[in-house]
Amino acid sequence: MAGDLIEARIVELVSLMTIEEKIGQMIQTHYAGEVSADMRGNIAAGRVGSLLNVVDADVANELQRIAADESRLGIPLLLARDVIHGFRTILPIPLGQAATWNPELVERGTRVAALEAAKAGVNWALAPMIDISRDPRWGRIAESFGEDPYLTTRFAVAMVEGYQGDDLSAPGTIAASAKHFAGYGASEAGRDYNTTNIPENELRNVYLPPFKAAVDAGVATLMASFSDLNGVPASGNRFLMQDILRDEWDFDGFVVSDWDSIDQLTDHGFAADGRDAARKAVTAGVNMEMVSRTYAQHLAQLVEDGEVGIERIDQLVGEILRIKFDLGLFENPYTDPAEFPPLANDEHLSVAREAALQSLVLLQNEGSALPLDANELNSIAVIGPLSDDPYEQLGTWIFDGDPALSQTPLQAIRESVGDRVDVNFVRALETSRSVDTGGFAEALAAARASDAVVVFLGEESILSGEAHSRADIDLPGAQVELVRALRETGKPVVAFILAGRPLTIQNVLEHVDALVYAWHPGTMGGPAIADVLFGVESPSGKLPVTFPRLVGQIPIYYAHKNTGKPATPETYVHIDDLPVRGAQAAFGMTSHHLDAGYTPLFPFGFGLSYAQFTYSDIELSRSTVGMSDSLTIQAVVTNAGDAGADEVVQLYVRDLVGDVTRPVKELKGFRRIRLQPGESRTISFALTPLDLAFYGQDMELMIEPGEFHVWVGGSSDADLQASFTLIAE
Ligand code: BGC
Repeated sequence: MAGDLIEARIVELVSLMTIEEKIGQMIQTHYAGEVSADMRGNIAAGRVGSLLNVVDADVANELQRIAADESRLGIPLLLARDVIHGFRTILPIPLGQAATWNPELVERGTRVAALEAAKAGVNWALAPMIDISRDPRWGRIAESFGEDPYLTTRFAVAMVEGYQGDDLSAPGTIAASAKHFAGYGASEAGRDYNTTNIPENELRNVYLPPFKAAVDAGVATLMASFSDLNGVPASGNRFLMQDILRDEWDFDGFVVSDWDSIDQLTDHGFAADGRDAARKAVTAGVNMEMVSRTYAQHLAQLVEDGEVGIERIDQLVGEILRIKFDLGLFENPYTDPAEFPPLANDEHLSVAREAALQSLVLLQNEGSALPLDANELNSIAVIGPLSDDPYEQLGTWIFDGDPALSQTPLQAIRESVGDRVDVNFVRALETSRSVDTGGFAEALAAARASDAVVVFLGEESILSGEAHSRADIDLPGAQVELVRALRETGKPVVAFILAGRPLTIQNVLEHVDALVYAWHPGTMGGPAIADVLFGVESPSGKLPVTFPRLVGQIPIYYAHKNTGKPATPETYVHIDDLPVRGAQAAFGMTSHHLDAGYTPLFPFGFGLSYAQFTYSDIELSRSTVGMSDSLTIQAVVTNAGDAGADEVVQLYVRDLVGDVTRPVKELKGFRRIRLQPGESRTISFALTPLDLAFYGQDMELMIEPGEFHVWVGGSSDADLQASFTLIAE
């Protein structure tokens, strides 16, 4: 339907609504598995605009029918669900999807999720989560795309397009919700729901760009964060909701609160009571209240008392109705499951498998321990609590997933090797947290009796996700002990880590030949892992987040500032090498930790391959770039190894001098390519001055002339460098 027509219909509909019906549109209630008489009555009376957690097409259709036929104005319902990384077919956790560095694949995976959710009557996904996350202690890092604004932006757009397609009213497209607006990932010490203090400059340069991109991509809704941003909780934050979102970005969708987050304005100490909370949230620009009841209880009186203008309510309601019109719900609110492909069909599973495969990051491979050659082996020991656990490999937020569909690593390994190779499986630890080492003897016997040992370690899914932050991010339980014991058998040991966050894994790396980070890989994790284990495919994932050596290094991220005293190899002395009573100023007066140094365990963008990629011949189309020029940067990538493989070629830039200090490196482009052994290819990236823009001291977007460095390589440690000068013409 044309935009003008929709606008006219919104105005007309709002003019027909009573205040109670208007407020009704602003209320989202939770469906707890039963259509109660109360719920029917409320929908029929126009007192509900949206329901959360209806995932049964019959129930969805019945509720839509009540809204359409029994309510006075027949306004359809928005039916929301946390469709975070798949619906029935579970893809890798978003952090794992980010490790694919493949937005096109992520868009396809999201499309699968949208189709499966729409089949169940869902018309609104509470995703993507696009909070910049630089703290692996935070459990919700699992739901994010990691630490980088550019990478997150690319996935934000991919997911919005995957859910919404190019026409929201088409069957199988559903509304998306970019969340959590804004700054949630900066929760103090990684404690969930905690305070954030983010200077406006950093907010604009780091935390907001993915949201801006989602808005530009047409995202239907945003969700307010639980967190307090610079003293003003997001759900009452006018600067975020009005000044930035509406006034600067011209957003014309709507904002939903988070669960109870308006009511929680009182807990924050930002509102005196529910009435005050409702007033502050409405004034800030939160259109819909999730679950808590402050709008239901107080908005009408606030309008009556003149504390909230009716025109404010009309505007907020109009924005909700716009999305209902855009979704085509007034024409047809019903779902016909028969019109959709079956859940978890082969095509959907194959997308999940491809995503899992591309998410696997090879972090260590001493002596080319990987891949295993199944033809050379007679036996393999498969050890560990995550070898064969259909539930745990799915990760956080899998309400609609089905562990029975999971293909585990053990199953896939058995399937790959058939009868040719003996697979000696011992779980050894019941869960990732088990400390009972009673199963070790059997595991060691299996290892000794086998030609190679493959160990599946990590975290159960409950150890990451919402409210599941950790202060110690080592492998839990007795897993490190298990690896040490296996090492002592003298057999080659290969580890796969299935986890919802970067863990501190130095103490594992020391005891294994090879290590692959598998995140929580979802339904098809097993086959993807087996393909990499046996060299059917090379690993090709790259880290979307920096891995610290020690938890005390957090936050540690590649795009840091240089500081006035940057650390160097010459100025860093490890704590053990410091002389006793050495002069304070004689050693390393630079920015580092005495015990952890200043480098991470693995940098952002890092990931090894079975191929050997080399980079050479960086060339720029010009060394002086004017404001209306475009710059082409090219470099030659060669596969000098003997396996064909994908590589993610990355482009980084440094702005040497800025109105505000600029990061030492910033990702500005990337491309996943495939090269056969011996093949070389020239890869080009285009940059325009706008790509170099940033918010300066006066909070205006600026493109500042000056010197820039540029790198092309396979990680943020890339050292193939060139330079150019941006000039004001
Ligand atoms: C989370 C949101 C989620 C909502 C609804 C909240 O606790 O923060 O991300 O969409 O619950 O389930």
